[in-house]
Amino acid sequence: MEAVSSSPASAHLFDRAAAIIPGGVNSPVRAFHSVGGTPRFITSARGCTLTDADGAEYVDLVCSWGPMILGHAHPAVVEAVRKVAVDGLSFGAPTEAEIELAEEIAARVEPVERVRLVNSGTEATMSAVRLARGFTGRSKIIKFAGCYHGHVDALLADAGSGVATLGLPTSPGVTGAQAADTIVVPYNDLDAVAAAFAANPGQIACVITEAAAGNMGTVAPQPGYNAGLRRLTSENGALLIMDEVMTGFRVSRSGWFGRDGVAGDLYTFGKVMSGGLPAAAFGGRAEVMNRLAPIGPVYQAGTLSGNPVAVAAGLASLRASDADVYAALDRNAERLGALMSSALDTAGLAHQVQFAGNMVSVFFADHPVTDYAAAKASQTWRFPAFFHALLDRGVYAPPSPFETWFVSAALDEDAFDRIAAALPAAAAAAAAATPEGSDA
Ligand code: PLP
Repeated sequence: MEAVSSSPASAHLFDRAAAIIPGGVNSPVRAFHSVGGTPRFITSARGCTLTDADGAEYVDLVCSWGPMILGHAHPAVVEAVRKVAVDGLSFGAPTEAEIELAEEIAARVEPVERVRLVNSGTEATMSAVRLARGFTGRSKIIKFAGCYHGHVDALLADAGSGVATLGLPTSPGVTGAQAADTIVVPYNDLDAVAAAFAANPGQIACVITEAAAGNMGTVAPQPGYNAGLRRLTSENGALLIMDEVMTGFRVSRSGWFGRDGVAGDLYTFGKVMSGGLPAAAFGGRAEVMNRLAPIGPVYQAGTLSGNPVAVAAGLASLRASDADVYAALDRNAERLGALMSSALDTAGLAHQVQFAGNMVSVFFADHPVTDYAAAKASQTWRFPAFFHALLDRGVYAPPSPFETWFVSAALDEDAFDRIAAALPAAAAAAAAATPEGSDA
C-alpha cells in the first residue's frame, strides 16, 4: 500500500468541484469541513482498500458510511449487477427480484410483514413518518437529539451526522410549521419521553429512533431503553419507528432487532440492503403498511423505486453475508477499538471507545457518552489532529467526531498492521492538540 501526505490531484479536483458543486461535494460531511484539508477523490476500491486520484491507498474505515460490509467490489455483488444490467436498467414496472428482496427483509426482521422499496434512507424515514401520521390521524412526532434520519424537513431539528458536524440547530428552509410538530428530547432518557407524551395527550403519532445511535458518534441504547420506548408508545397509542438505515443487516443478519428483539411498528432500512447502490426500504405491520396507496389513502411513490440493478446488488449482498461475515465484522470492530484504546492509553489521553454491535467510534471524554449533549461536550477539537495523522499514514477514518467508524469483513492482517502502525502517531497528535489549534 502506498500512502502520500500531499494530494495534488485531489486538491485540483476539489477546486474544480467547488466551482460547480456547492462546497465541492454532493453530501456535506465529505467536504472535510470539520477536520480541514483536502477531501480525497476516490478512483477505485477493492476489498478494504480505497485508492485516490493521486494513487494513494487507504484502509477504509468508512465503508461508504456503512453499506460495504463485504468490502468493495465483492465478486458476487459485482457479478449480480453485471448480469442484470445487460437486461435493462429500469422498467417502471414490477419485477420478481423486488419480491425476493422484500421477502428477504421480512424473513430476517420478524415484525416486518410488508415492505416497500424506495431510493434513499431519507425517503424511507419521510414515508414512514407520513404513514404513521396517516395511520394515527395525529400530527406530532418525537425524535431524539443527535439522531439523524436523513434530511427530512421535520427530522432535521437537533440532528446528528452532518448537521452535528456543521453545528447547525436545524436548517433554514424548514418552516416553523414543518418543525412545530417535532418534539426533540434527549437520547437514552425515558423520563423525557414520558413527559413529552404527558404534555401532548392524544397528539403524538410516533416516536422515531435510531435502533442504536450512530450519527452522534456511536451511542448504544442503554439496557431497557428501546423496550421502554416500545412500552411508552404502546401505552399512548403511538407508533414506534425503528430507523435501521445504519444498523439494518450490518450489526447482525437481522439488524439491531436481531440483537435486542424489541419490535417496532415500522422500520426503515438502507445501505447494506442495497449493496451500496441507491435503494432503501420501509416496512412493518401489515395493518399499518396496508394504508399505503394504492390500497390505502397514504400516498407514496417513486419512478426508480425497486430499480433492478440496485435490487440485484442488495440481494447479492444480503445473501453473501453469512455467519462468517458477521463474526468477522464483530471481530474486526473489537480489534479496531482495542487498538485505538491502547494507543490512546499510551498517549495518556482520556477517551471512550464506544460500540453498538460492530459500529464503533471514539470520544475524547472522561465518561461514557450516552447522549448528544455529552457527545458535544467531549473534546471534539482533538479529532482533526487524530484524523489527519491517520489519513497521512493511509487510514481513512470518518472526517467528523460525530460519525461512526464502519469496518468490513474484508479487513486483513495488512490492514490491521497499517492501522496499528498509524495509531500511536495519531494518538500523540490528538494528545498534543489544543482547542485554539483547531477550527472544529
Ligand atoms: N437514517 C439513518 C439512521 C442514517 O444513518 C441515515 C444516513 O446516514 C439516514 C437515515 C438517511 O439515509 P440516506 O443518506 O440514504 O438518505
